[in-house]
Amino acid sequence: MVDFEPTSQQHQVKEFIHHFAESVVRPMSLEADRAHRTPDEFLLRLVAMQGGMTMGEVPAEVGGEEGGVGETPDARGKKQKNRFALIAAEEMAWGDASVLLNLPGPGLGGPPVQFMGTPEQRQRFLGLFKQPGLHYGAYGLTEPGAGSDVSAIRTRCRKEGHHWILNGRKCFITNGAKADWVVIFATQDPSQGRAGHRAFVVEKGTPGFSVGKIEEKMGLRASETAELVLEDVRVPEENLLGGEAHYQGKDGFMGAMKTFDSSRPMVGAMAVGIARAACDYARDFVKDHYPLARALPRYIQLGQQLAEMRRMVDAGRLMCWRAAWMADEGIPNAKEASMAKAYAAKMAMKVCADAVQILGAHGLERHQFVEKWYRDIKVYDIFEGTGQIQRIVISKRILKEPPSF
Ligand SMILES: Cc1cc2nc3c(=O)[nH]c(=O)nc-3n(C[C@H](O)[C@H](O)[C@H](O)COP(=O)(O)OP(=O)(O)OC[C@H]3O[C@@H](n4cnc5c(N)ncnc54)[C@H](O)[C@@H]3O)c2cc1C
Repeated sequence: MVDFEPTSQQHQVKEFIHHFAESVVRPMSLEADRAHRTPDEFLLRLVAMQGGMTMGEVPAEVGGEEGGVGETPDARGKKQKNRFALIAAEEMAWGDASVLLNLPGPGLGGPPVQFMGTPEQRQRFLGLFKQPGLHYGAYGLTEPGAGSDVSAIRTRCRKEGHHWILNGRKCFITNGAKADWVVIFATQDPSQGRAGHRAFVVEKGTPGFSVGKIEEKMGLRASETAELVLEDVRVPEENLLGGEAHYQGKDGFMGAMKTFDSSRPMVGAMAVGIARAACDYARDFVKDHYPLARALPRYIQLGQQLAEMRRMVDAGRLMCWRAAWMADEGIPNAKEASMAKAYAAKMAMKVCADAVQILGAHGLERHQFVEKWYRDIKVYDIFEGTGQIQRIVISKRILKEPPSF
């Protein structure tokens, strides 16, 4: 039976992170948005905390926390890694989603190294995050001509002795400029389709590997999004993820896809966190501004709107939890992960827009959090696969289902 009632340990984690998000993260949120960055001193404090706060998992085999909360089995003996990750993502995004993306760690670069890397590569590239200081990984798939259609990548790779030579351009790469390494997806020959794809870990400082422009974005402004340029970059063959044997068939591409399967419910949970923040903010505004007006039709109507917003937030959370629960159970969850991400993003855009509306003109003021959340939320329907792409993933799967479903 599916049971989404949080355990007492999950409650404790939620309360701890919520307290942190409310007392430390939220107060710095508007300033980080204006400055387009989160102060390093603050991030260093997080890393120094017991267990360290990271963006993306650092597995125990490379020095990550042994027996961490996610490793604790539930009442039926199942690990709860994904559910704990969702709790943390929702609470931190409730505080500030950009600050969350600024947490040091492997980020989106972690899953391909974990899924595709050899034990030696996992040790080398993920072990880094247990060393002192601010360390980042990044994920370089998107190109100017290849976003949703990842099979259209044009960054080229060719083998020369014991090295690969990479040429191309990547764009919109989260933490791309500050990353110690970036997983770069390239093709040997576009005419080979997916069979020609390879994934490399390209390390910062490799000659020919440089940062282009840093994007000026509407939302998530404190999160760095960079263009990366590769000009005759010589990458040692040991940095080809999984080694050549891994790429018989279409594994290079599958590595990219697996990353999305594991991250989409978490991205959905971040959208839920922002929507919940907007909902809470609008509710407090109504309570503060209409204290003596409880019988007025306007107050009643606003209450109904808040009720509808909360209903949508709860529905989004349940969908994300289902996808995470399936992942913890080892049940294939691609359809449910896409459903959760697609629904949560659209839901959160509507809820943030409604929250601005409830505040009226005040909702557009720069110092109001809802103004920022309204800008921040749009990207959740774009990155990690746009809403349209999620619907394609879902429809492909439902059309294969038996008619009795
Ligand atoms: C803040 C931010 C951070 C990002 N971080 C990263 C990162 O770390 N690493 C990385 O690799 N990328 C990253 N991206 C890029 C992101 O993944 C892409 O923007 C996304 O995949 C969409 O690609 P695109 O922008 O090229 O749009 P396109 O793919 O060009 O899509 C444009 C429009 O066409 C629609 N469309 C496309 N194909 C279809 C279809 N077959 N059917 C119906 N509609 C379709 C899309 O839904 C969209 O509405 C980031 C983007 C942003 C904004």
